Amino acid sequence: MKYFVWTEGCQMNVADSQRVAGALEQLGYRPAGSAEQADVIVLNTCVVRQSAEDKAYGRLTSLAPLKRQRPDLVINLMGCLVGIRQTERLKRAFPQVDVFSPPSEPGPLIKFLLEREGRDLAAAQTFQRFDYQDEATTVLHSAPGALMLPEAERGQAVGVHIPIVYGCSHACTYCIIPYRRGVERSRPQAEIVTEVQGLAAQGVKEVTLLGQIVDRYGKDLNGGENLAQLLRALHDIEGLERIRFLTGHPNWMADDLLQAVAELPKVCEHIEVPVQAGDDEVLRRMQRGYTAGDYRRLVGRIRRLVPNASIATDIIVGFPGETAEQFQHTYDLLEELKLDMAHLARYSARPGTVATRTMTDDVPPEEKMRRFRLLEDQQARLVGAINARYLDQTVEVLVEGRHKQKWMGRTRTNKLVFFAHPADWHGRLAQVKIIHTSPWSMQGTVAEA
Ligand code: SAH
Repeated sequence: MKYFVWTEGCQMNVADSQRVAGALEQLGYRPAGSAEQADVIVLNTCVVRQSAEDKAYGRLTSLAPLKRQRPDLVINLMGCLVGIRQTERLKRAFPQVDVFSPPSEPGPLIKFLLEREGRDLAAAQTFQRFDYQDEATTVLHSAPGALMLPEAERGQAVGVHIPIVYGCSHACTYCIIPYRRGVERSRPQAEIVTEVQGLAAQGVKEVTLLGQIVDRYGKDLNGGENLAQLLRALHDIEGLERIRFLTGHPNWMADDLLQAVAELPKVCEHIEVPVQAGDDEVLRRMQRGYTAGDYRRLVGRIRRLVPNASIATDIIVGFPGETAEQFQHTYDLLEELKLDMAHLARYSARPGTVATRTMTDDVPPEEKMRRFRLLEDQQARLVGAINARYLDQTVEVLVEGRHKQKWMGRTRTNKLVFFAHPADWHGRLAQVKIIHTSPWSMQGTVAEA
């Protein structure tokens, strides 16, 4: 029996898909080369913008005839399109789907498969992450088994993403994620440490800790856990070379966290902390809880406490009511701060959010596009200049794999580097001298083999 997982969206979804694949392999399923060859198809979906949601509908439509031809095919719809409320609407709209699973939750699929095969349902407990008390609340279930990497990745995966905070309890007015992923729930520190120990023993060199607001890690737990402490605990794990975390929220980037990043050699000096907009009125209506001035001071604090930190941000252009002048404030802030990376998005009205319920999506699509392009050009110029400073420098690259005859990896500051070399560098740290840079990546040669 074979499975196929299709994943759309954020790193959290990538991590969730890996867990589902691991769980299916423990039941005896093997990976299929394509959806057509699979007996179980998992669609792990994203709805953060309409464009992502549309991809899920496209997939669902294309699978309908396959399901008609082969009624025993199992189709599992998972992720943020399903959310924590499994609506009847989805069941009526997509009769080709056999199982609906909330984000991060392999449980319903595993239970369905065990039941269908007449196997012992107790095993399903091992894979169940959450209890569903009622439609709206989700509580963390007792610790499930630690992540088993899918077979193809064992001894091969260099970096693994580890969810440490599920859900989100902030109320940014544009964002649908809290509605679909439920309230914020941190995993106990001991559970995460055990999981990472297991992964390091399977050859994993880098972990990236994930949360919608990862710097809030532990605030919902009673034990006083926090991210700085967790970083210190993970730092002791033998075999692990690098630790990253994302995404932060500006209001929770405490000094002790930044100090831990500065002090701990394995923790990479790369901070992802979205500003979303550079205008105070827009930020207020987004309900972000800080001003452009606060963000400017945060960037100063990061740069003071973490020397050579690279900083990444997220921007939404065309939020309801955003004037040309307000957009200019975003442009000016980015021009001033010169960050290492800006993930850009055009505002997309999402059902049920405060912005959709109380504001008009009044920036025309062509104007959103114009603002998006202006920032794209600006970022290419700014990041191009930042990256050019790497020229002739020798940097540490953790090699993740091959790409078009070259080795591919990242610097500690999360810059993509390619180099050609005859030795096997998979999963190793290379000292690479940079000989060419662009806004998107760099080329280098091995400085010492
Ligand atoms: N808590 C995470 C949110 C993940 S969503 C974070 O702070 O990064 C990733 C990014 O998608 C957000 O940062 C935001 O820039 C963008 N985004 C979220 N909702 C959006 C919407 N309705 N339209 C356009 N972009 C959106």
